[in-house]
Amino acid sequence: MMKRQGECTSCGECCQTVNITAVRDISIQQHGSLKELKLYLSYRGIEVVGENIEKNLLFYSMEIPCSQLSVDFKCKVHNSPEKPLICNRFPRDREDLEGLKDCGYRFS
Ligand code: SF4
Ligand code: SF4
Repeated sequence: MMKRQGECTSCGECCQTVNITAVRDISIQQHGSLKELKLYLSYRGIEVVGENIEKNLLFYSMEIPCSQLSVDFKCKVHNSPEKPLICNRFPRDREDLEGLKDCGYRFS
């Protein structure tokens, strides 16, 4: 089992986008094809950044910075009860770290 080590340095890297997981087959069925789904989402500012065919999942990302991010890219609610649970839990696995250069967490 992977163990998370390190700590949040409040670098703000994971706070620039909203990431959503969708059910792959239903989403593709609604749009007719993956190409059509990607086209539609691209017009709405949503990018399909990955998929897990085995688990029937699609991963979406939207460039929407968090309102709690300060101008110097620090979380204004870091170490406060106002910090959302999902932010405290992030990253949950190695996949979450993909594309993040400065995250203070590692998995071993
Ligand atoms: S609440 Fe803080 S840690 Fe969570 S996304 Fe916003 S700035 Fe980032
Ligand atoms: S990328 Fe890592 S270190 Fe940076 S704010 Fe997110 S959890 Fe914290």
